[in-house]
Amino acid sequence: MAATPHLPQPECFLSVSLLLLLLLVSSLQISLAKPSVQESTESEIISRFQQYLQINTSQPDPDYKQSTSFLLAIANSLSLESQVLEFVPGKPLVLLKWPGTDPSLPSILLNSHTDVVPSEPHKWGHPPFQAHLDPSTGHIFARGSQDMKCVGMQYLEAIWKLRSSGFKPTRDVYLSFVPDEEIGGHDGAEKFAESEVFDKMNVGVVLDEGLASPDGFYRVFYGERSAWWMSIKAVGKPGHGAKLYDNSAMENLFKSIESIRRFRSAQFDLVKSGSRAEGDVISVNMVFLKAGTPSPTGFVMNLQPSEAVAGFDIRVPPTADPLALERRIAEEWAPSSRNMTFEFKQKGPLHDKFGKPMVTPLDDSNPWWGLLQKAIKNANGVLGKPEIFPASTDARYFRNRGLPAIGFSPMANTPILLHDHNEYLNKDEYLKGIDLYVSIIKTYSSFAPRTARDDASRAEL
Ligand SMILES: [Zn+2]
Repeated sequence: MAATPHLPQPECFLSVSLLLLLLLVSSLQISLAKPSVQESTESEIISRFQQYLQINTSQPDPDYKQSTSFLLAIANSLSLESQVLEFVPGKPLVLLKWPGTDPSLPSILLNSHTDVVPSEPHKWGHPPFQAHLDPSTGHIFARGSQDMKCVGMQYLEAIWKLRSSGFKPTRDVYLSFVPDEEIGGHDGAEKFAESEVFDKMNVGVVLDEGLASPDGFYRVFYGERSAWWMSIKAVGKPGHGAKLYDNSAMENLFKSIESIRRFRSAQFDLVKSGSRAEGDVISVNMVFLKAGTPSPTGFVMNLQPSEAVAGFDIRVPPTADPLALERRIAEEWAPSSRNMTFEFKQKGPLHDKFGKPMVTPLDDSNPWWGLLQKAIKNANGVLGKPEIFPASTDARYFRNRGLPAIGFSPMANTPILLHDHNEYLNKDEYLKGIDLYVSIIKTYSSFAPRTARDDASRAEL
């Protein structure tokens, strides 16, 4: 007969269980008190920025596969919810979510694009995808260091800091890393902003890219100019190169170019005199000129051609009157009375889908503006005067839905080098930018205005 195994006495069993339970509870408390995300060192933060910069996502053949897995790995370390959306195959949009404690409130969207413009490596001091950190200056040289991988990583690093400090957002915080901004965003942010996924996110405010500022102020943008790409065509009777006659195609085009040049000068004078910012005027630049009859050695020289075409890149601020500009084009720049026609290759809207000018009001009517000012001030930053972005960004797709979208890339004391050779960002400026986003994300995601329902329940009390 086997010996009866020794069983603990009931009291003894109870005290062992109690001890185990106590141990379990205290270890639970430790794991609750200890944030699940560890604080990063400065060199870890800079190294992650360099790794993102080293992924060659330049158009026309961006390595989205690698950027996607890089972003997903960080999202995983931060325990963020993630999904990859492909509105067009091969063009992934990485969408991350940091759930808030009150998902009924509209969410915050932090947008950035993953692609960069091409570069000419032989014109750079360091290869554009090496992300070389100059030890004497602290400059990090890379394509995308300003436009805008800096911002995308700063969002993540700010969340890293907030998570390691134990902070919990009230509102849901989303991060979108979108493809193809540099080629128009049609397969990225445009489709995203119109998608069902986006509708369900219940976005209340969007932050997107801004520009570097050579002085100590951070630039902030509340709208952007729309691109109108137009070609004008003149036709006329061909004739001998020695003959003077009226209404040749070239003469008709000359008159238009002269009229456009005068308009351009007047607009440029407003900028030069300092009375208007660059984004507040209509800019017109001639980008091509097509005329002449080709010959084996160049062009036929004794023949006045019967057709001449010129192309213009026009940028129109949202505050401009589109009808007045259209009239000017039809009556002065390409009048049919001079045998001229015009055609738009692109004509960006100045008004959103509700017919309102596509600008984000930066005044008391927009609480996000006051919160941004407060957040920047709390992080010891100073904002410049709000501006219209001189070129296009993805923010227009969100503004088109009537959503407030603010352009902001925290780069003060930095020369504007986007799309230029030797694009760089100083590491200290980059680190300072993370602290600004810590303050912004904290302020934005904690913003819980009193609702009518709150007021009603307060009245009941
Ligand atoms: Zn950009």
